Amino acid sequence: MKNLAVIGSTGSIGTQTLDIVRRHPDRFRAVALTAGHNADRLVEQALEFRPEVVVIADETRREYVKTALSHTPTKVLSGNDALCEAATWDGIDTVVTALVGFAGLPSTIAAIEAGRTIALANKETLVVAGSLIMPLAKQYGVDILPIDSEHSAIFQCLQGEEPATIEKILLTASGGPFRRYSREDLAHVSAAEALRHPNWTMGEKITIDSATMMNKGFEMIEACHLFGVRPEQVEVVVHPESVVHSAVQFVDGSVKAQLAVPDMRLPIQHALCYPERLTLEAGRIDLFTLRALHFERPDTERFPCLAYAYTAAATGGTMPCVMNAANEVANLAFRDGVISYTQLCDTILHCMEYIPSNPSPTLKDCFDTDHEARSKAIAYINKQQ
Ligand code: NDP
Repeated sequence: MKNLAVIGSTGSIGTQTLDIVRRHPDRFRAVALTAGHNADRLVEQALEFRPEVVVIADETRREYVKTALSHTPTKVLSGNDALCEAATWDGIDTVVTALVGFAGLPSTIAAIEAGRTIALANKETLVVAGSLIMPLAKQYGVDILPIDSEHSAIFQCLQGEEPATIEKILLTASGGPFRRYSREDLAHVSAAEALRHPNWTMGEKITIDSATMMNKGFEMIEACHLFGVRPEQVEVVVHPESVVHSAVQFVDGSVKAQLAVPDMRLPIQHALCYPERLTLEAGRIDLFTLRALHFERPDTERFPCLAYAYTAAATGGTMPCVMNAANEVANLAFRDGVISYTQLCDTILHCMEYIPSNPSPTLKDCFDTDHEARSKAIAYINKQQ
């Protein structure tokens, strides 16, 4: 029996994690659940899974959750600091980091320092502070198991392999809803169009990141940290069917890939039960009906965010943190209809050009940089209005 803390249980990854707990009650127990604002869903989850503790980060919803759970033994906490309490709750084995954005960093650090295994969905953690997080995990003897489907695929391909024999990683990308759009078309796309991902149903922030391919840039940086490769060893391959979830090419030319129908419960479950495999009643690939799989090179003219990520990774230091903060601000402004797709990309570039990288940051420097880059991005967006 594994005891889980699900940080961000009310989101897309969080609810799918709980679906796995529901299917394997003999294997997993949800001991700590946390939400941002969605008090109704948190209460619903608490009544079903009976966790020891729930956290509602939004303090204004605390009384509502407390009242709704007053007849249960579940403890109710609120506020951002309580997210770290949930992540380090007594008896937790694995912390699922399903919170979105930089906000996921403090609870992930707390979980590592408490020696908990990390099932990592929150890729922003490694984008903004991967060079500090990976050594921290090593120091505390903590495993970081990827939930991202691409990194789960790579992780599965690497079983039984020597990391030094990786020649390159073939990181697949669906290409998102705008794969065939011209630059002119992209200048006029709306958030509603960007939110219609062809293959995956995910939270809004990552869906926009997929449409701009910033998500793939994040994943390239995430792969560098998780698998100890250089950015130039990670090749992005647009694969619209999302059946090959990524592949590894080894020094002898052999390529191993992982294939499955697109269903996030598979990589989530793999991270939860590794090194075992459990049954999953999801779809199966039928090679006879697949017909063709397609692979294309990404176009960084139309999707410059991918190129920014390679620049940020090559620069290192706090530059990926600058890029992430600017993207979080611009992504939200785009969703709110305040800026266009083109302005979203320009905001990130502007912040990366104007904020110098600190080459060897501490964790505090990452928090400061995040703050500075957000202010810069907001000021830039306001100036455009
Ligand atoms: P969602 O937006 O669906 O869920 C985010 C979760 O985090 C919700 O529970 C939300 O609470 C909570 N949350 C958000 N902001 C805060 C905050 N400031 N304080 C406390 N809680 C907060 O996101 P996803 O599930 O899509 O993504 C989560 C992470 O996983 C991201 O880093 C994403 O990149 C990564 N990921 C997601 C995939 C997917 O298929 N969705 C695939 C691979 C990676 P509430 O809703 O209650 O406000």
